[in-house]
Parts: sequence; structure tokens; C-alpha cells
Amino acid sequence: MNADAIIERCRELVSQPLGAVAEQWKAQHPGGKAVAVYPVWAPAEIIHAAGMLPLSLLGGGTSVELTHADARFQSFVCSVAKSSLELGFQGQVKGVDGFVYSNICDVARNLSSIYQRNFQDVFVEYLHLPQNSTSACVATYCAGELRRLAEGFQRAFGLSVTPTALGKSIDTYNALRARLRALYAFRIEEPQKLSTPDMYVVLRAASLVPPEEGIAWLDTLLAELPQRSARPRDRLRVVIEGAFCEQPPLGLLEVVEEAGCYVVEDDLMLGWRWFTSDVGGEGDPFERLGAAYVNQAVPSSTRHEGREHRSEGLIEKVRRSKAQAVIFMPAKFCEPALFDYVLMRQGLERAGIPHMLVEFEEKMWTFERTRNEIETFVESMMFD
Ligand code: SF4
Repeated sequence: MNADAIIERCRELVSQPLGAVAEQWKAQHPGGKAVAVYPVWAPAEIIHAAGMLPLSLLGGGTSVELTHADARFQSFVCSVAKSSLELGFQGQVKGVDGFVYSNICDVARNLSSIYQRNFQDVFVEYLHLPQNSTSACVATYCAGELRRLAEGFQRAFGLSVTPTALGKSIDTYNALRARLRALYAFRIEEPQKLSTPDMYVVLRAASLVPPEEGIAWLDTLLAELPQRSARPRDRLRVVIEGAFCEQPPLGLLEVVEEAGCYVVEDDLMLGWRWFTSDVGGEGDPFERLGAAYVNQAVPSSTRHEGREHRSEGLIEKVRRSKAQAVIFMPAKFCEPALFDYVLMRQGLERAGIPHMLVEFEEKMWTFERTRNEIETFVESMMFD
């Protein structure tokens, strides 16, 4: 497949129900199991090392009408939690054998329990990822949580995670993440050659196939995209921040670019590119993953980082990507994103970096007001 065919394949894949994606893989791997992880991060390496297919669970997008999930959540809860639950009621995750949640927020915590209570025939695990990055014990604690997950797989599916297999899976995901970093670095330099909607479908599809397949796609894209001919346009270079869990509709990403922006950095699909460099070290692979979670994770509103101000990571992203502004894009009712918005905005203002706010819901389908707001913002910066 060439680059265009890969992007088309990715677009088609992300439009399918998660259960159908799992069933297709299982048809080729008789007896295989698929385990989905709720945003933001869960260790795909451990699922992969157990011989299973790791999948991202990202809600129902525009495709799911809430008929049951609304009755199980308060009205002031983000869409992704409700629609992820609704997928279960509507049979759209049939074929997925397990679900992993973590303590990114109170909503995800409740979702995990509600899911378990309503769907007792599937494996559900909840990871208590560390929230204190400064304790001496934190990496060991995190490794313990990851071991507990592996033990859960052993009990539920009879599949063990050996240190050798986990070491190999870490290498495989290091290779995948290195290519994703390279794709981001390419877009920083030549955003005119890769639109954000195209980049997004590739990222998302890479979380729906075995990592080896994602690596092959990315190798082709990294080889072919630089050859594309596309003239740079006079657009505002922006960072999108806040869309780390519930994912914005593709139409919204299209509108950002149509309104005059190049997105040069973002926090979309953060879980599959959680580590900023290769998971290194030697010895016990659970300890290596635990240490990486503490010391090599991207700055995120869902992970408490006591060692630096909330805005530091965002400002570094702006500088590194040569961006001129930030578009905060939190999902409606997303507490971690909205709490951090205040702190990050203060940091940006101290650093003299312009910003604007665009709230979204995954089922949003009309974008005209947002288009006008972004166009006004862009014009105020470009023609000042
Ligand atoms: S969108 Fe925000 S509030 Fe909702 S589950 Fe994700 S992190 Fe939690």
C-alpha cells in the first residue's frame, strides 16, 4: 500500500465498531483475545505480551445514540464515558474480551465499576496509576499495578506474561512510538504535507491493529510523505491542548485547518504515544515500564506531576513546535482538562503566548460558530 491507500484504510478502520475490529482480528487468530483500554494510558505492552490484541476504547463518536447509558450517569458527565458504556449495551463491543480503566478522573473510576456491574461476562480491570511523582517508591508501586494486571489476564484467560515476552513487547512499542514521534516531527517541519484529519486517522487506526502492522504503515508514510508536493500557506501554527481523552469529531479538526491554522502539535490519542522516549533500562520489564510511567510520560492533565508547573509542558510544546498560539480544546464536562485550563492559561499569558478556547462534544456536528471564532482569532493574529 502507498501512503494514500494507508490513510484511506485507516479512515475506513476507524469508522468501524470496535467489536467488528476485534472480530476481524480474531477470525485470523482463532482463540485469540482482544482487550480494550480506556484513555488515556494503559500498558498495551502487557496485553500484547500476553498474546492478545490491544485496542483503544474511545467512545461512540457520532455513531451512537444514548438509550441506556444516560440512566446510569449524571447529566453533567462527559460524552465519552456515557457512549463507551452505551457501546456495551448496543452490542458494539461484542468480541472485545476485556476492558482496562485507570484513575484518570472520578468519571473513569465510576465507569469502570458501572461497566463491571452491567457486563459481568467480560474481564474488567481498574489500574490505580500513581499520582505522586516525587515519592521514592512510586516506580515500584506502578510496576506492582502492572503486575496485578498481568495476573488478572492469567486468571481470566489463562494467558501469562513472561518477562521475555514483555521485554519484546516493550521493544515493539518503542519502535511504534519512535515512528509516531518521527511523524509528529515531520508535521512540525512540513504541516502542509499532512493534514491533521489524515494524521489523526492514522494515529487512531494504529491503536486498532497489532503494533507490527502500525509500524509498517508508519514506515511507508515516513518514506513517502516528504515526497509530496504541497506549497506552504500563510496559516497560524497552533497547538491543540485538552483533547487527550474524549476525541474531537473529525469535522472539528477539519474546521480548525479550514479556518486558517496548521496544527503542529496536539494531545490527541495520547495513550499510544505516552512515553517521550524509548522505555529503556535493564532487568525486570514491569519495573522498566513503571519507571517510564514516572519519568518519561508526556505532561498530561490526568497525571499529577508535582515537579513542575502545569503550564511548563505546554509551553515547551509550543516552543519546540514553533507554534504561534494554543487552541484549548477540552471536551464538555471534562474536569481534568477544565481544571488545568485555568493554570495553563495563566502560564501562557505569563509567557506571552496567545490562546483561545473551543469546547466540544464527540457528537458535535455543526461547526459554523466555531469556524467563525477560529477565523476571527487567526485574523487577529495574522493581520495585527
Ligand atoms: S473526558 Fe475528561 S472527565 Fe471524561 S472520562 Fe475523560 S478525563 Fe474523565
